Amino acid sequence: MVSSLTQPALEVIDLHKSFGSLEVLKGISLQAQEGDVISLIGSSGSGKSTFLRSVNMLEIPTSGTIRVGGEEIRLKPGRNGATAIADRRQIERIRASLGMVFQNFNLWPHMTVLENVMECPLHVLKKPRAECLDEAMEFLSKVGIADKRDQFPNQLSGGQQQRCAIARALAMHPKVMLFDEPTSALDPELVNEVLQVIRLLAEEGRTMLVVTHEMRFARDVSSVVAFLSDGQIEEQGPPEQLFGNPESQRCRDFLSHFRDEAKSKHG
Ligand code: ADP
Ligand code: MG
Repeated sequence: MVSSLTQPALEVIDLHKSFGSLEVLKGISLQAQEGDVISLIGSSGSGKSTFLRSVNMLEIPTSGTIRVGGEEIRLKPGRNGATAIADRRQIERIRASLGMVFQNFNLWPHMTVLENVMECPLHVLKKPRAECLDEAMEFLSKVGIADKRDQFPNQLSGGQQQRCAIARALAMHPKVMLFDEPTSALDPELVNEVLQVIRLLAEEGRTMLVVTHEMRFARDVSSVVAFLSDGQIEEQGPPEQLFGNPESQRCRDFLSHFRDEAKSKHG
């Protein structure tokens, strides 16, 4: 009885998003239970980033429902039939509980690694400085760059910058982590050090949505894989099913494109 009352960590119901007359998300529903790792795969332009950005309200959905830990994000009718945020403080609070990691790291260039990680716990959560410092060092150690604490982002490799961005997200103790192609901007030899960190987080039981083109990673780490095509979830399921025996022709075509690419890379 207790377990039936457990709320999903994240619940998205019939999410739509248009930019002007362009409908980019055409009704997406997705649930992540506590500890789920959901990989989102799909062609460029299929709406993966727009979906992640809508989940944390960097884009305001045109319609649909989003619940984080059971709490529904309140939207209201805005101008010209658009939707608007009903409660700015609610959004800020919920956004603080969704750790977002971007393709291009988005670190603050004028702050050191340590300052990047401490900034939001200190100024958004208003925690005591000593506590922020201890936690920041703990998360920098976890991602393996504690020795870089006093460097600036432009003094780090891409892989180190992305690990710093992950530590920064962790420092907010997020309920759900959102990764948008976290390794796509990296030189190939730096991809694994970042995937290793994300694997570690998955093993710790963190709830994560990961947009990725790393199919082996998605296959190994995900509890669910969702294939997006043209603004809709064309197919979703456990990785063995989606990769091993996809039902949709579009999904099969997409995956065979990746297999061909992998073959040509490895001879
Ligand atoms: P993906 O991440 O899967 O490559 P995106 O979500 O970035 O796809 O983009 C999906 C579609 O939405 C694309 O056609 C893109 O041009 C369009 N789009 C994304 N953001 C905007 C925006 N701010 N204004 C207008 N169109 C946008
Ligand atoms: Mg994208």
